[in-house]
Amino acid sequence: MHMHALPADFEGPPPIGMCSPFEHWHVRDAKESGMDYMINVVSRNLYCNGKGFMSPSTDDSVMTETIKVMEKYNIYGVTSGTYPMVQKWKSASPNRIITGLMFSPEMQIPIETLRKWFSSDSIKVFGELVGQYNGITLSDSAMEPYLALAEELDIPINVHVGPGPPGVAYAGDNRYRAKYHSALVIEEALIKHPKLRVMVAHAGWPMIDDMLAVLYTHPQVYVDLGIICYGFPKKEFYSYLERMVNAGFGKRICFGSDQMIWPQTIIAAIETINKATFLTESQKRDILYNNAARFLRLSEDQIKKQYGQ
Ligand SMILES: [Zn+2]
Repeated sequence: MHMHALPADFEGPPPIGMCSPFEHWHVRDAKESGMDYMINVVSRNLYCNGKGFMSPSTDDSVMTETIKVMEKYNIYGVTSGTYPMVQKWKSASPNRIITGLMFSPEMQIPIETLRKWFSSDSIKVFGELVGQYNGITLSDSAMEPYLALAEELDIPINVHVGPGPPGVAYAGDNRYRAKYHSALVIEEALIKHPKLRVMVAHAGWPMIDDMLAVLYTHPQVYVDLGIICYGFPKKEFYSYLERMVNAGFGKRICFGSDQMIWPQTIIAAIETINKATFLTESQKRDILYNNAARFLRLSEDQIKKQYGQ
């Protein structure tokens, strides 16, 4: 439910590192600039005992290596990025790429353009919505016209609620705040637009109580696991996931690798789910496929075809 079509230099000049998992969150000496911390500690060096990946060097290699992983593991992925980039990936793998749009209001994409993309089926999922980086939550008035359109056209939404890179508020995204990790920020939007299909990317980590309260209060809401699945300390990820399952929400948790520019992270995320000893085989199947198929309203026919491949 959550991957991306991004250029190789999305996080800076490649190669860029990604820990899988981070074993702990490194200290920023307050005299170090936020950008230096981001470059040296988060994205350039793998301070995770080598458990991680370096990104491919070109746009094409990010795309072809990702598609190769999708084919090997029989993955159908909601893939978001800019409109042209997503269409490029779609042409490279028409069956496996489900088109999404990475979006935030400050991109100023006219509403009529969005209407055209949604109505013509060239964009299937509205999101990942990434306003959180700019301090814009789903319930912000800036989102209102877009949510009304998505509700009218029955376009499912995937909204980032949870972790960005650690320390990102000091490295360019100066309106990012910890409080926006809380799933409570989507509530007013849900009440105003009861027919919206909404998936919370990154499962509102680490505010588990808020996430459970939202899932309970708004039974139409789903979560995707995003980066916490492969990037975060394993014990923490498993206890977070187990808490959601134990609370009774196993039918609304979806796999989402949040693959950005590291194709191998998809495999790491799948392995993390498969190794979860507290999940039954059928709970794993729900997370890896069935829940997303229901959320996306895939037809019997589409499901049969996907299993067959
Ligand atoms: Zn993402």
